[in-house]
Amino acid sequence: MKNSEPSFSFFLESDLNEIYQRSKESLTKLAGKLVLVTGAAGFLGRYFIATFQMYNMNNSNPIRIVAIDSHITSRKLSEDDFRRKDPNIEWIYGDAEIGAQLPENFDYIIHTAGIASPVHYQANPLKTIDVAVNATRALLEKAKELNARVLYFSSSEIYGDPDTNEVPTKESYRGNVSSRGPRACYDESKRLGETLCWVYENYYNVHVSVVRPFNIYGPGMLPDDYRVMPNFASSIIAGNSIKVYGTGNQTRTFCYITDSIISMLLILIEGEKPDVYNIGNPKPEISMLQLADIMNSYTESQVKIEIIDYPKQYPKDDPNRRCPDITKLMGGFKFTPKVELEDGVNRFFSWARENYKYI
Ligand code: UDP
Repeated sequence: MKNSEPSFSFFLESDLNEIYQRSKESLTKLAGKLVLVTGAAGFLGRYFIATFQMYNMNNSNPIRIVAIDSHITSRKLSEDDFRRKDPNIEWIYGDAEIGAQLPENFDYIIHTAGIASPVHYQANPLKTIDVAVNATRALLEKAKELNARVLYFSSSEIYGDPDTNEVPTKESYRGNVSSRGPRACYDESKRLGETLCWVYENYYNVHVSVVRPFNIYGPGMLPDDYRVMPNFASSIIAGNSIKVYGTGNQTRTFCYITDSIISMLLILIEGEKPDVYNIGNPKPEISMLQLADIMNSYTESQVKIEIIDYPKQYPKDDPNRRCPDITKLMGGFKFTPKVELEDGVNRFFSWARENYKYI
């Protein structure tokens, strides 16, 4: 392909700039440090790597990174995927657990590795459990040895299908979760992962911050992720009908990637003590039918919206409502999500339109 031809990109450069500008003060505290990122080729992992690379381009004392991924659900990446070369990053192919066997003295461990898409975790239940439990345990042990700080990626799924009196959901809610069924491998293993974090924090003094993301979305979400935003976007781009599952009345809130990464970096770097935080944007809480309408409004020739039964590959037991209370995040870090749904969907959709044709 000639250089002048447009090509695939995982990011909007303006989003990376936004993350960098809003996080650069905190990022200086990572200068000269060694950071392990698991799941580095995944949706969230890529943003951490790209943000650190942007920091390194603009500063002389770089952040050093070891990036691990086994590509169970992500693509193999090359440096070109980041549009900038960086000698401070070493890529390792393998399961997240490998990170615990490396000889390096990590200062920070960002354990994003996980199988978070319902279609993928239903298809890979044992891998889903392994990475949330075994890999987490191994990495916490490593953190204990090295006195490293850990960021553990839990999930809003640990609340299961919350009681409506508990929506918006606070971190203190204990959840309504089934130990059996198609979502249990994810929900329960993330819960046990959190328990491991608690044990290492309380028995071994490890500084672990736990984040519970609520439907993060943005450029870089690929069609084979099969989550709602990329599914709706692919259908609209192809001129096919949008398929809304179940009743379509189930709700979610969506948090744009820039707000998500900025808040997670704040927690990792600035968190004074180990704690757990919801990551999300509580407004608006919308039904999947409403989301279909919003996304459909981005096209001139609108596609049909169909309500269908859950397809076989999609796990039932879908939470009816999901919406975070983010008071703790806002109070603790003077943080407010800045990207409104319309703006975020617009950024995601324009990226998808340009890039899905290369996939
Ligand atoms: N969903 C849908 N159509 C799709 C994909 C998902 O209606 O093509 C619904 C799904 O039933 C759920 C919501 O969208 O209620 C969000 O699903 P997703 O898989 O994105 O993530 P979840 O929030 O369930 O983890």
